[in-house]
Amino acid sequence: MSGGAGETKLVNFAMANKARRKIINFLAEGDKNFEEIGEIVGGRKFDFHLKILQDAGLIELEKETVKISEYGKNFLKGKKDIGIEGVKDLSQAKPVEIAEVRQLLPCIADASKFRVIANMSPPLGGILKIIEPIFPRANYSDIKSSLMVKKGEIITTIYGNGKVVMRMVKNEDEAKEELEILKKTINEAIKKGITPPPREKIKVELMDIYKYLPQTNCGKCGEQGCYSFAIRLMAGQVILEKCMPLKEPDYATNQERLRFLSAYI
Ligand code: SF4
Repeated sequence: MSGGAGETKLVNFAMANKARRKIINFLAEGDKNFEEIGEIVGGRKFDFHLKILQDAGLIELEKETVKISEYGKNFLKGKKDIGIEGVKDLSQAKPVEIAEVRQLLPCIADASKFRVIANMSPPLGGILKIIEPIFPRANYSDIKSSLMVKKGEIITTIYGNGKVVMRMVKNEDEAKEELEILKKTINEAIKKGITPPPREKIKVELMDIYKYLPQTNCGKCGEQGCYSFAIRLMAGQVILEKCMPLKEPDYATNQERLRFLSAYI
């Protein structure tokens, strides 16, 4: 494995799951058999997890033995190197409240959508930079002292002084709902007292989504077919749960992959 964009996505997807992280760390101690792996992850779905780790190139399967690959060893070493300093302390931060939406204005980019301005208190100031990794799609700007968070079509900018601007919302109710989610996400990180190390930025392409859909074009989601569904999912106009066939056991791996990827859209 060379660590290209596609491989990075597979590795990030593989390591996004607690059971699979457990397996990799267990294998770092030495080769194991299936029974030992089954015990460590409670015996449930371990073959499913092994397949995903194998697809990502992190492990190798040999008859009854599971071993960590060279690529897996290098990956773990890299994680260890950034581990301690990657984790940021949030113990001094106070939980935030988001005051009422103060203005609802038409969006400049799309007049059918709205832009709202709200206020966060206490202002997060420099803590904004630390909390960037808690959002799948976020960018901190040192120049503006602001954190831009993207979710579907919605773009939210939180400024160090407490001002919050949310663009591309459908109406005030959606704005309030999204502001509530934002507050909850930030407060959960503050409660834990640390943030995760900076995560790799993942660029999700239309074909990344399409290739994991069932591709039966059954129309149960209300779209003409899976390709149209993928386009609308990328635009944040539909949610993954609308594809009912994905919930069937045969598509369990695809569903998990798509859940992971859709957080980065
Ligand atoms: S419900 Fe799922 S499988 Fe059927 S067309 Fe829509 S995306 Fe494709």
